[in-house]
Amino acid sequence: MALLKIDQDKCLGCGACVDACPFGALAMVDGVIEVSDACTACGACLLSCPMHALSLLKEQKPELAIDLTAYSGVWVWVEQFRGEMGDISMEMLGQGRMLADRRGVPLTACVMGHEVGHIVEKAISYGADRVFYADDPTLAVYRTAPYARILIDLAREYKPEALILGASSRGRDLAGSVASLLHTGLTADCTSLEIDPETGLLLQTRPAFGGNIMAAIVCPHHRPQMATMRQHVAEMPVADPNRRGQVIAVKAVLKEEDITTRVVDSILEKDEVSLADARIIVSGGGGVGGPEGFKTIRLLADALGGAVGASRSAVDRGWISYAHQVGQTGRTVRPDLYIACGISGQIQHLAGMKTSRIIVAVNKDPKAPIFSVADYGIVGDLFEVVPELAAQFRERLRR
Ligand SMILES: Cc1cc2nc3c(=O)[nH]c(=O)nc-3n(C[C@H](O)[C@H](O)[C@H](O)COP(=O)(O)OP(=O)(O)OC[C@H]3O[C@@H](n4cnc5c(N)ncnc54)[C@H](O)[C@@H]3O)c2cc1C
Repeated sequence: MALLKIDQDKCLGCGACVDACPFGALAMVDGVIEVSDACTACGACLLSCPMHALSLLKEQKPELAIDLTAYSGVWVWVEQFRGEMGDISMEMLGQGRMLADRRGVPLTACVMGHEVGHIVEKAISYGADRVFYADDPTLAVYRTAPYARILIDLAREYKPEALILGASSRGRDLAGSVASLLHTGLTADCTSLEIDPETGLLLQTRPAFGGNIMAAIVCPHHRPQMATMRQHVAEMPVADPNRRGQVIAVKAVLKEEDITTRVVDSILEKDEVSLADARIIVSGGGGVGGPEGFKTIRLLADALGGAVGASRSAVDRGWISYAHQVGQTGRTVRPDLYIACGISGQIQHLAGMKTSRIIVAVNKDPKAPIFSVADYGIVGDLFEVVPELAAQFRERLRR
């Protein structure tokens, strides 16, 4: 059965789709594209065609098609580190709750660890209706194999329609392993999630093409629909300690001797920057002019008790370390106050800070794009404006 339709009137015979097909299912025969049985309707060829001559037929390969109606409910993986639930998991539970409510389905949390029953209670207070709790010494420290095995088995048995994980280093690692073994799609590093209440299709938005566009990605033919989501792009939900939920104990699948990785030691890196937790961030960009310029930025950050952030332009030039970088390839932050000084406001920077509660921009160019997201804009030279702001804040905070 053909899965791909080619509009021969539009096709130029350029062969771009032949190169784009990861399954070698397309061939050029006498100037005409032919589709073989190897086509899986993955859609990789569609964007390659300059004439938009390709379209997918609705049917999927019968052996690949799954019964989507068998999948229901939204799941969140709740991450723990040294027995504590991270803020990122609370945000994911808030997102999961929102998606589950839109769909009218329950929210399930998956908690794995050793003697972390308090996290189960916390997951319920943050919105879970049901918690799968796997408590075992093999799960005390995160390791891919035992965690993935449990999540995969649970997903195969209970069939969730969506599975969301925080885009932490552990979440990213686990999500990739689970998605590939469940043969489903995974959108990494989402900046927003929505769900179609009727179809249950998860709309997974993330920056694409170097951050120049925001792509909404869907996974129409496979389940669960899987996404990792960045920290600080979603609202932190409010816990309700009176919420009640169902707790289902789950056994660890792998024994210690089945697990080939051993954690020999773990050393916590001292993150002196701590942008993730800062309520106030003062950031400097290309306009700061050099490493010395960050002294001016720090002056204001110190006056406000905030942290110093930076654009990639400043980091790439070696003026300040990468730990300070805010943006698509740096940290995503959501402080109460973000003051951008000498930062133009390119989309890749905005991706990391635009959900800050109040944004103040200081830039000498009145047309700088940063002003389009700023609540307050000051057009002027940062070397005049910032020391003045620091002095005024210091004076007022002293009173
Ligand atoms: C794949 C990819 C990922 C990226 N990831 C990130 C990321 O994570 N974070 C990030 O920030 N960027 C990222 N970038 C880079 C991004 O596209 C921009 O190049 C970068 O953000 C520009 O930094 P900037 O605005 O500080 O510097 P510039 O473009 O140099 O702008 C300097 C600004 O300062 C103003 N200015 C100059 N002097 C003064 C002064 N004395 N007083 C006041 N204003 C002044 C200017 O008017 C200008 O608006 C990424 C790019 C790509 C392609």
